[in-house]
Amino acid sequence: MEHATAGSSFAALAYLIAGVCFILALRGLSSPTSSQRGNRFGMIGMTIAVVTTLVTHVPLQAVGLVLTDPSGVVASTGPLFERIDWLTVLEILAAIGIGAVIGISTARRIAMTAMPQLVAAFHSLVGLAAVLVAAAAYLNPSAFGIADLVVPLIGPPFAVIHQVSRIEMGLGVAIGAITFSGSVIAFLKLNGNMGGKPILLPGRHVLNLGVLAAILLLVAYFTQDQSPWVFWTITALSFAIGFLLIIPIGGADMPVVVSMLNSYSGWAAAAMGFTLHNSAMIITGALVGSSGAILSYIMCRAMNRSFLSVIAGGFGADSGGASGGAAQVDRPWKRGSAEDAAFLMSQAEQVVIVPGYGMAVAQAQHVLREMADKLKAHGVRVKYAIHPVAGRMPGHMNVLLAEANVPYDEVFELEDINAEFAQTDVAFVIGANDVTNPAAKTDKSSPIYGMPVLDVEKAKTVLFVKRSMGGVGYAGVDNDVFYRDNTMMLLADAKKMVEDIVKSLD
Ligand code: NDP
Repeated sequence: MEHATAGSSFAALAYLIAGVCFILALRGLSSPTSSQRGNRFGMIGMTIAVVTTLVTHVPLQAVGLVLTDPSGVVASTGPLFERIDWLTVLEILAAIGIGAVIGISTARRIAMTAMPQLVAAFHSLVGLAAVLVAAAAYLNPSAFGIADLVVPLIGPPFAVIHQVSRIEMGLGVAIGAITFSGSVIAFLKLNGNMGGKPILLPGRHVLNLGVLAAILLLVAYFTQDQSPWVFWTITALSFAIGFLLIIPIGGADMPVVVSMLNSYSGWAAAAMGFTLHNSAMIITGALVGSSGAILSYIMCRAMNRSFLSVIAGGFGADSGGASGGAAQVDRPWKRGSAEDAAFLMSQAEQVVIVPGYGMAVAQAQHVLREMADKLKAHGVRVKYAIHPVAGRMPGHMNVLLAEANVPYDEVFELEDINAEFAQTDVAFVIGANDVTNPAAKTDKSSPIYGMPVLDVEKAKTVLFVKRSMGGVGYAGVDNDVFYRDNTMMLLADAKKMVEDIVKSLD
């Protein structure tokens, strides 16, 4: 049995500490009050993991006389010693430097509303990295210590990859490729480069199941035959299935896709960890994979979608799901002004604010809190209602409201506040749309049918802030609340409208 060297026990301990930091990070991120502490733990854990990997894998170069026979096998050596391969060290540092510059500048420039597509882009990189690691290990298994060199009587020596490594490699390349192509499609959809409407191929369920079964059979066959065609067919089919799983998903179901791909990227990283014999990657990958799966499950429940059909792909995309339509501007509706809104709210006993994506775009959260403070000064009870998929990423609204120092005890989740709308004087909907759409409760042909929504229409008065009657929400469907008798449309940029309301309240 191999004895652990001082270096490897140091690495094991350091990776364990990094793993504990990641667990504390997840724990911290479970609540807005501890999320900053959670982030710090994550950063510390990642620094420990990266530094440990670099320190324990310093590239070395053998120096001295090495004689090889014509087939490349070492025949005899002179006195040998190892020295640090500074050129490779420099290459690694340059790669880290370039990555850091790109990462820091992207993180500084990215708008909060573009976060989901950034996350999807990051997931695609994790998937691609898993594919590249698996391919490198496949092409040069001896360098990864996962093969035995066989020297036949006739012909050149060749490497036979260990069976367990073939399983890890086959699964790693499959999960990585699915994560990559799926995330690229999710990025294109979220970034608006591809239409949000589901693309429904005929017989897609049979096709998807067939491709998935073929991948699994080939991974099993790969344990018996390491021929290039097997490896590359697994890779190609996995790229295809990632694409096929995500194109049928449209509109309001994208949040679940993002968290599902998050989970896949974790499993891809864990598979890479097995190939590279890196326990930190296995721990981190498993943590990301399982927490992403739990988040997907929670989001499925919040969206009233079946978890199993999400994993199988193509959920929420039955033919009827693509229906809906733009705003019917010819229906009668009432327009109000900032003064009307200020008057109505100042007379109210309770105002429930429903923030959505438009508030994030307009960055209206700070002035919104100012408005709430003024209303409270008028003796009005103010609450915020948060839908689980409001905005464009999980927890989007919570983050923005926390940034504006809205007290946590005024912020309520959908299930805790929905019953209160019936006793609420004013529901103030600011930049939200899909999450208030009653069609989700009644219209079976709507793409958001089945998703729980905030019952704003039950309030005595609904004040609905958006820029125009023509604009629709993410799912691209009209909202009946605009045309109800108790609704007053406040058409303007969210920030400008709330600023005007604040002036009127003064
Ligand atoms: P929606 O996308 O349904 O609606 C946004 C509304 O904001 C629109 O009515 C738009 O109308 C208005 N708006 C946009 N800009 C402004 C502005 N500057 N000032 C005022 N109003 C503005 O948002 P919701 O938050 O209600 O719903 C989120 C949707 O996004 C759901 O369908 C969800 O499934 C999906 N999604 C959520 C993700 C998540 O993780 N949370 C991820 C990906 C998608 P107008 O253009 O007329 O101003």
